[in-house]
Amino acid sequence: MKPIQLVSPVDGTVHAERLPLAPEAARAAVARARAAQGPWAARPLDERLALVRAGVAALIAKKDQIAPELAHQMGRPIRFGAGEFGGVQARADYMAEIAAETLAPKVIEDGPAFRRLIAREALGTVFVVAPWNYPFLTAINTIVPALIAGNTLVLKHASQTLLAGERLAEAFHAAGIPGDVFQNLVLDHATTEELIAARSFDFVNFTGSVAGGRAIERAAAGTFTPLGLELGGKDPGYVRADADLDAAVDTLMDGAMFNSGQCCCGIERIYVHESLYDAFVEKAVAWVKALRLGSPLDPETTLGPMANVRFARLVREQIAEAVARGARPLIDPALFPADDGGAYLAPQVLVDVDHTMAVMREESFGPVVGIMKVSGDDQAVELMNDSPYGLTASIWTRDYDTAQQIGARIQTGTVFMNRADYLDPALCWTGCKDTGRGGSLSYLGYLSVTRPKSYHLKKV
Ligand code: NAP
Repeated sequence: MKPIQLVSPVDGTVHAERLPLAPEAARAAVARARAAQGPWAARPLDERLALVRAGVAALIAKKDQIAPELAHQMGRPIRFGAGEFGGVQARADYMAEIAAETLAPKVIEDGPAFRRLIAREALGTVFVVAPWNYPFLTAINTIVPALIAGNTLVLKHASQTLLAGERLAEAFHAAGIPGDVFQNLVLDHATTEELIAARSFDFVNFTGSVAGGRAIERAAAGTFTPLGLELGGKDPGYVRADADLDAAVDTLMDGAMFNSGQCCCGIERIYVHESLYDAFVEKAVAWVKALRLGSPLDPETTLGPMANVRFARLVREQIAEAVARGARPLIDPALFPADDGGAYLAPQVLVDVDHTMAVMREESFGPVVGIMKVSGDDQAVELMNDSPYGLTASIWTRDYDTAQQIGARIQTGTVFMNRADYLDPALCWTGCKDTGRGGSLSYLGYLSVTRPKSYHLKKV
């Protein structure tokens, strides 16, 4: 089999290389995961909880080693590298805290004649296919509840973040979780799809691109394997006339540029009320000009390279297409001398954009954002909904009720008011349209990794 290479965006060198498992070895690994599931589920919930909490703690204890590794693997500036672990801790804590209550049987009747209840049981073996952009956060959303609920887990991490899968496995094993209960496998696409098609798993959580999600759905066709698909986005921000302008600029531009725009719920298009439009654009441009593009290993860098040259190429093409159609780029790339025409890409703010341009319709997943002027709520809602995606939408206003009313009209998984690009572990992470199916985090996250079992017991 051909080795899988992790090409670092820092300098284009091969940072790590691993041989993928041959299909036979992969099938054997899955068989071990399935055999380990009964004994794992039979352990008391408190024991599983303690082991998972210890695994998360062991991972977080390595954050100072992981931050530079992440910079090498996917280009996140070292000053932000460890930031991911605040979210890992918060999500793991929340899912652990609600486990006992969420997994407890719901007793409908417990009387002299009948005992009726609905229990929740682990599904069996859960498969997580993870992306590189937040390699720990995205994986932890399913790993933690799946293990706590009594499933065994197989992880296939992205080629770009091969080492993240290894760090997760090391941490969970060091904490005492048996090797067959949590396995990180290096798999190529063909073997991944073969395993799914062979009904190896009882639930597959896939986080990645729409094309990848389609491939997983095709592989699973006819197996009845439940899928959680967390796919692409083109998340809008809408700045109403009553918005706090400075806060809106600060949060929306950070949402657009953080992680070089490679956030699933990053802000990719902004609609601003005409009364604030000019001021918003001026402040947004100043905000972007203060970024520092450079090596992610330099502590001064606030904008690293994109994770891969091919991702930067797509963004460059979208910008060029938009400009050819009349968009105006407001950032002179010469201000960012580190732009090398490859993975290091100057950020860009585009105005005079419209929805005929790919940059306003297709996922960019890069440091570019288009800004449009709108006359009011109706036009903003129409434009926000004019998208194949629906992950989050960020509304800027001083009025809760109006935000909720506008939110009800938007086809989206999450409605934010006066914030963006954030996951609250108590709320369900979900999307609609091409963004995917299912939901993770919150009590609903447990429903994806368990099945109901009804008990209808009658005394004679
Ligand atoms: P990707 O190319 O689809 O890859 C994601 C994962 O799926 C990787 O582990 C990849 O393996 C694997 N994969 C892709 N195609 C496959 C196939 N045909 N068979 C088996 N495995 C396959 O996505 P990406 O570019 O890494 O990630 C960025 C995308 O993820 C963006 O679209 C972003 O919006 C989305 N995302 C969504 C969320 C969300 O919550 N909705 C969160 C984070 C990211 P290899 O790396 O080995 O190719």
